Amino acid sequence: MTVITRFAPSPTGSLHVGSARTALYCWLYARKTQGKFILRIEDTDLERSSQESVHAILEAMQWLDLHYDEGPYYQTKRFDRYSAVKEQLLKEGKAYRCYCSKERLENLRNQQIENKEKPRYDGYCRDRQETKMDNYVVRFRNPSSGTVEFDDLIRGNLIFNNVELDDLIIARSDGTPTYNFTVVIDDWDMKITHVIRGDDHINNTPRQINILKALGAIPPHYAHVSMILGADGKRLSKRHGAVNVIQYREDGFLPEALLNYLVRLGWSYGDQEIFSKEELIKLFDIRGINKAPAAFNMEKLLWLNQHYIKTSLPERVAQELEWHMQRLGLHVSQGPPLSDIVKAQAERAKTLKEMAEKSRYFYSEVHFSEEAIKKYLTTEEIPVLTSVRDELMNVLDWNKEALHQIISHISEKLGVKMGKIAQPLRVAVTGDTVSPPIDLTLALLGREKTLARLSHALALARQFNHFG
Ligand code: GLU
Repeated sequence: MTVITRFAPSPTGSLHVGSARTALYCWLYARKTQGKFILRIEDTDLERSSQESVHAILEAMQWLDLHYDEGPYYQTKRFDRYSAVKEQLLKEGKAYRCYCSKERLENLRNQQIENKEKPRYDGYCRDRQETKMDNYVVRFRNPSSGTVEFDDLIRGNLIFNNVELDDLIIARSDGTPTYNFTVVIDDWDMKITHVIRGDDHINNTPRQINILKALGAIPPHYAHVSMILGADGKRLSKRHGAVNVIQYREDGFLPEALLNYLVRLGWSYGDQEIFSKEELIKLFDIRGINKAPAAFNMEKLLWLNQHYIKTSLPERVAQELEWHMQRLGLHVSQGPPLSDIVKAQAERAKTLKEMAEKSRYFYSEVHFSEEAIKKYLTTEEIPVLTSVRDELMNVLDWNKEALHQIISHISEKLGVKMGKIAQPLRVAVTGDTVSPPIDLTLALLGREKTLARLSHALALARQFNHFG
């Protein structure tokens, strides 16, 4: 039997990291079993769904590189199918039309609350022979006795009493199908074998199983994943910081780091912290997912991110860095290859956002603050920098080693420490007080840019200091 999993987000917002983790588990399990992973957009709630959210979800899935084998399927394109199944259930007496007014249902509810009973539909229309063809909803005729049982792959055996489940509305009065009904038909039609989803759906599962059974379908396996908590033990939400996947991209995380972080948040393999995708595919097991909810730990994610920045192929990190450079309005064609920047900056940045911000001067004009000039481009430094420029002008083979030698030679010649030369030089060519080692910085900037910036900085310094 081919394993088929699905990720079924409702497009009512961007992709939450908790949902991304569920998607990852679905994806991993399909890959592990050489099965199929389907993406299904559950957009039947027309008021809350938006095209913008659909885009955000697709963008996040792409960024995380969770490739789906089929889809995206849209539930709004399947209304005819839902309607046909509803008619079939009506015909077979497995569903019925309910004409109860809002007022009646409200009174019933209030009454039940007053009697300290669980509010639920009382089956008033179950056996009424009403033939009116308007103003009704369609309810599923849930078995009124017995139990529904399933072996949750994470939580073990779960048993529900049918008397606890009322007759669920499967179609609203305007004919539109409800969530539990569309999910059931889709899981059935798409031959889903494993439903891995958030544990907020546990109570829907027995209802869905009953509908599947009424349709003559074999229910899939279910695995309900616990939610992610914030540091305060409450469900992870905006209050705790970033919750949407693209926000993590904007904050400078590599998708590899986020995925590695998310998979470990709720699943483990010994003490191992770092997993490549290939390793995960080999080692992942649904039954190894933790029942208990886990708390999000930003420090750990940052640590993983830095690990991936430092150890991934620079070319790979550069792909993601390019996105950040573009966001800063920088043109990467106007500077050194980004993979060289990654090599130079990997140790200095925890995130790619930080790396991009710290690398601006390689791709754009430098601007000097008055303070920088006052502090670093002083009358005392002007002759040193002039001498540096003159020497550098003669360097034809512009590489880190040659540049290092030149600077050390000047330092000897002038009898000043390397650092005393490096810092004003750094400010002169980058406009900044921090950069990779000066020889590497100059090598990356290139001859032309270095000399032009140095001349420009010298001119400014002279002007500012009324020097010669
Ligand atoms: N659309 C549902 C949600 O976003 C998921 C339904 C399911 O996985 O069965 O919560």
